[in-house]
Amino acid sequence: MLLPPLLPDELLLGRLIRYLAISGDEVGAFCEKAFGSNRISLHPLLTAGIEHLSHAVGESPEELLNQQTLAPLFLFYLPGHASNLKKYLLANEGAKALRESQLPSYGHGGSVCLKWCQLCAKQDIQSYGMTYWHRAHQIPGVIACYKHQVLLGNIALEERKHRFDAGLPPLRNEVTRTALDIEYRVAKFSQQLTLVLMKAPPVIELSSVYRWRLADLGFITSGGRVRRQLLMRQFITWVGSYHSGPDTPLPNDIKDYRYLSELLNPKTSHHPFRHLLFASWLFSHPNEIFKQKQSEPNVALVKPSLIKTKAQQLENKCLKLLEENRSMAEVSRLTGKSRCYLKRIALQHGIKLNLKPRQLTSELKSKIVHLALSGMHRELISERCGIGIGSIEQVISSVSGLVDWRKKCHFESVRRRYRLEIQRYMLENHDAIRRDIKSDCNSAFFWLYLYDRHWLDSALPSPAKPIGHGEYVLNSD
Ligand SMILES: [Zn+2]
Repeated sequence: MLLPPLLPDELLLGRLIRYLAISGDEVGAFCEKAFGSNRISLHPLLTAGIEHLSHAVGESPEELLNQQTLAPLFLFYLPGHASNLKKYLLANEGAKALRESQLPSYGHGGSVCLKWCQLCAKQDIQSYGMTYWHRAHQIPGVIACYKHQVLLGNIALEERKHRFDAGLPPLRNEVTRTALDIEYRVAKFSQQLTLVLMKAPPVIELSSVYRWRLADLGFITSGGRVRRQLLMRQFITWVGSYHSGPDTPLPNDIKDYRYLSELLNPKTSHHPFRHLLFASWLFSHPNEIFKQKQSEPNVALVKPSLIKTKAQQLENKCLKLLEENRSMAEVSRLTGKSRCYLKRIALQHGIKLNLKPRQLTSELKSKIVHLALSGMHRELISERCGIGIGSIEQVISSVSGLVDWRKKCHFESVRRRYRLEIQRYMLENHDAIRRDIKSDCNSAFFWLYLYDRHWLDSALPSPAKPIGHGEYVLNSD
C-alpha cells in the first residue's frame, strides 16, 4: 500500500483521508490493512498505530510521527509523559496515548476538531489540485493561519464516527476574518516551534528557561522571587482579546497568577497552548528558547526555594557561632557576613554578643603598638585586634615617633622590593644594557633613580656607547 506523496506541512490523518479519496478503498478494509484493526479511533493530532502503519506503507515510523503528527510538541511539553506517550503512539494504543497527552485532564480532550485556512485551501487547489489538512493549523489553541493572518475555520469531529468522515478541507466563498496581531503571532511562533522540534527535539528544563528570560526582562527580584503582579498585568495586556476556542485555555483574569506561576514549576505539566502563549510573549523566535545560557550561574535562575534554603543555612551557621560566644570578628571572618548583619540577627534572636572592648585597654593598646612597630598594615592590625581602623590609627599617632618609624619601614620595604627586582632582572638577562632595564623594570628604575640613585648607579651595568641605528656597544672596561 502506498500513501500519496507527502505535501508540505501535511497532517498524517489528512494524508490518510486523501488516500481514501483517491483510492476509493472501503474504510474498514483500509483500517484493517493500515492499522491491523477496523475498530480504531484516530486522533487528528496524535494518531496512534504508527508502527503498524509504517510497515504497511513502507515509511519510517519516526518520520510519520515527527513530521506528520503533533507528537513532537506534546513530547516536548510533557517530558514526564514523553516516553509512555511515544510508546502508545507507536503501538496501536490511541486511548492510552490520549490519556498520556493529558488533554482530557486539561478539559480540552473531548472536543476534537480539524482547522483550516480558506486562503491556504485556495493556494493548495492552485498548486496541488486539491485541498489538504495542514499540521500547523491543528496546533491546540492556535486559531489563526501562520501564513495569512486570517482566522481558521474549524469542523468538529464526532467521536463515534471515523475521523475520515471529515473529508478534505472545504472551499467556501466566505469572507475571511482577519486575525488579531497576537493570534497571528502565536500561530507563527507555534508553527516555527514545531519545525524546530521536528529536527532534533532538545531536552531542556522549560521552567528554568522562562526564569532566565523573566530575569532578563526584570520580572525577578534580586531575592529570586517573581514580580507576579507586574508580570500578570503586562501579560494580560498583551493577550488582550485573543479569541477563545474549544481548545484555548486562556488566563481567567488579571488575578489568575497561577496561570503563569504553574508554568515556572518544573514538576507540573500543562496544556501546550499555555506554553505557546507565554513563550510567544517572552521570545520573538523559538530558537531563543534553546539559546538561553543555562550553564552560567544566575541568581535569578536558582529556584527561590533554594536561595531561601542557602540563606537560611548561612544564618543558622552565624547564629550557632555567635551562640558559641565567639567574637564578632571571628564569626565575620568564618561566614563572610558583615558585623552589621551579625548584630542584626543576634538582636532578632536574643543572642548576647561577645563584643571586643570598645574602649582601648592598655593591654590592647600595647598589642597594637607592638604590631605597628613590626610594620604590619593597619587593616590587618584592625582584624587581629577586632577594632576599627580609626582606633588603630589613633593609637599609632599617639605614640611618639611611631608614624615616622612606620614610614621608614615602608620606605625600606619598597626599596628592598625594587632593588631585588633590578637584581633579578640582571641575573636573568646578562646582556641587558641600561636602556633595557629602564624599559622592562620601569617603576623600580624610576623609584630608585629618585630615592636611591647611588645604589642604582653602582648596580647597573656601565653605560653602553651608541654606534648608530639604535645599537649600542658595551664598554669593555
Ligand atoms: Zn493560510
